[in-house]
Amino acid sequence: MFARVVRAVLVVAAALTLAVVPAPSRADEPALAIGCATTHPYEPAVSLTDLRAGIETNWGFRLTGAYWTDERYRPVVAVVWRTLDTISCTPYLDTLHAKVGALELSATSIGGWTAGDYGLTKADAVSLDFPQLLTTFPDDPGHVARLFVHEITHAYTRDRSSNPPYWTDFLALYSRHGRFGTYGGSASETFSEVVGYFVARCAAGNPYVASEAAYYEFVKNEVFAGTEFGPAPGQPLACDGSGTGPPSGYESAAAAVRAAVADRKAAAAEIAANGDVRYESLSAPGATAAG
Ligand SMILES: [Zn+2]
Repeated sequence: MFARVVRAVLVVAAALTLAVVPAPSRADEPALAIGCATTHPYEPAVSLTDLRAGIETNWGFRLTGAYWTDERYRPVVAVVWRTLDTISCTPYLDTLHAKVGALELSATSIGGWTAGDYGLTKADAVSLDFPQLLTTFPDDPGHVARLFVHEITHAYTRDRSSNPPYWTDFLALYSRHGRFGTYGGSASETFSEVVGYFVARCAAGNPYVASEAAYYEFVKNEVFAGTEFGPAPGQPLACDGSGTGPPSGYESAAAAVRAAVADRKAAAAEIAANGDVRYESLSAPGATAAG
């Protein structure tokens, strides 16, 4: 048994050293080479001011809003960083920038259920509701990646009214297959969804099951030029809790959020305990409190 574990570790270590060159994996092994090789590793010690500047210079965006440099939202910034890094070897970002230039990413609070939009809260900008994304992060970090890619993909399809080839191909596919998952009833929303979930394979409720292979192949070939971010649809995913799949993912950021949540719970318990003392000293036994 022990020898088997050692052998498995050696196999994984050998596979990781070769991860840049994807090898056909056996059906019983998780795919290890997913996404682009890291060119700009996320460094937890780097200040948010420098991370903001890095996202602008490395990947050609324009970042606005005070939340980008607010430490509470570091996990969200880390997901955006890693998501851009993992798609950076594909044509996606160059294609996007050719259409919309240096796209503005506005870190804001939108309100309501919406976690992000393109051009609605702020013209020509992708608005991201950082407080809402942070709330989702501990249970579903992949949602942050999926939402981010979904929204910037609305900018990507901004040229759809001129019927470029990728869009006419997609419309033909959409007319045959229709909705993807449960969200969105238009071709534009569906396009953003099939691209967002293609990158964020470990997002909760990812609709990429085997029967969605047609959308998967379309995104793989026409948007990401063959790069994949997980195994074929329907195959088991090797998720590390990070949401997007890359093996060295988001664990440190997730741990930071869990610690912050634990702190808040401890503080809430302390306040409740103090409140109980006051309540007991002021109220008659058996009285019920509301609120
Ligand atoms: Zn949308």
